[in-house]
Amino acid sequence: MPRFSYISHLQCPKCKKIYAHTEKQHLCSCGAPLLVDYDIDSLRAQWHPEDLQIRGTSLWRYHELLPVQSAHHVVSLSEGMTPLNSMPKMAESMGIKHLLMKDEGSIPTGTFKARGAAVGISKALELGVKSIIMPTNGNAGAAWSLYASRAGIQATIVMPVEAPEITRKECTIAGANLYLVDGLISDAGKMVAAELKEAPDLYDASTLKEPYRIEGKKTMGLEILEQLDWQVPDVILYPCGGGVGLIGIYKALRELQRLGWIGDRLPRLVAVQAEGCAPIVKAWEEGRAESEFWPHSKTVAFGINVPKALGDFLILEALKATEGYAIAIDDETVLQEQQRVARLEGAFICPEGAATFAAARQLRDKGWIKAEETVVTLNTGNGLKYPNTVQSDAPLLKPGTKLNDNRHKTK
Ligand SMILES: *Cc1c(COP(=O)(O)O)cnc(C)c1O
Ligand SMILES: [Zn+2]
Repeated sequence: MPRFSYISHLQCPKCKKIYAHTEKQHLCSCGAPLLVDYDIDSLRAQWHPEDLQIRGTSLWRYHELLPVQSAHHVVSLSEGMTPLNSMPKMAESMGIKHLLMKDEGSIPTGTFKARGAAVGISKALELGVKSIIMPTNGNAGAAWSLYASRAGIQATIVMPVEAPEITRKECTIAGANLYLVDGLISDAGKMVAAELKEAPDLYDASTLKEPYRIEGKKTMGLEILEQLDWQVPDVILYPCGGGVGLIGIYKALRELQRLGWIGDRLPRLVAVQAEGCAPIVKAWEEGRAESEFWPHSKTVAFGINVPKALGDFLILEALKATEGYAIAIDDETVLQEQQRVARLEGAFICPEGAATFAAARQLRDKGWIKAEETVVTLNTGNGLKYPNTVQSDAPLLKPGTKLNDNRHKTK
């Protein structure tokens, strides 16, 4: 009998301790995040790439490799199968032959956080959770608030006052309890931890403190491979904050290998950070297995302003295992690249996504990316969520004024 999910257990990647997925679980007793494992041996005989052809386009098309056991618990807004667009003019400007952008800008809530929220909230519902709490840099809080509403779960969100303003409004319209903090996501995290001590019935949905968000983000990796007809690209560049997407993509690749859907070769994974917050890059350059807290972090790419990631050792492991790279980009370059993508390719991407293009350009210049390689950048969100990254200086005219025709003649 085929099962809806082939989840088997949770395991600590550090000390290897095993936990049951049928109960609420958070961190391992050793403090590390838990990862979901599946009964891949049984699944291999049951499931084949052709089976996907008749399925819907939401990420639930991969339900066998997702943790929700009953289809009744799936909370979905049809998230998933975002476009993998070719970016020929950007490719030409960098001297790369095949440049593709996985564009998460069209997903519900406008960022790939919807994937983590869809799977995380569905699993929370399956586990009987009534109320969740989480710190966020904005986008995750927005996505989890909205999916929580759809599931009938109450959400409490704490975010930095500097987080993109629209994300506050998303939490508010969803009916979440929203708190702003005059500080960083790490400060929000401490306040959430304090609240959890007082109210143990709350479900901690902090990044990597519940094991299922990563399973949702993993589907980006599954989709990229399916969209490339299971041909492995050479490089995938990811804007890395907490690193959940990167750890998730790496996990997806390993699971596809175990299923026999792809071969031994893996894409080289690149963690792209901001110069104003680059703990993973520093650790990578120093050859360390873990990162250190990055003081006074600051960047326009708010989603990657994470001074210390709980899963840092998993990010660094994925980079090492795939012969990847970690690189930091300054804010000015990020904004220039964001504009270039809009002008050359017509896509208004988020600054985090723009950082991956800047990184591809720099790595091509260094020769680390070769001209003939297939390169995938991840645009993790829609530029519309960050209106403040663009200054518009259009002239304001009285009705009937003649336009200055110098402007439309240039171009
Ligand atoms: C959260 C976020 C990121 C970083 O994701 P992690 O999984 O925490 O590394 C990148 N881009 C955007 C738009 C985000 O909201
Ligand atoms: Zn452990």
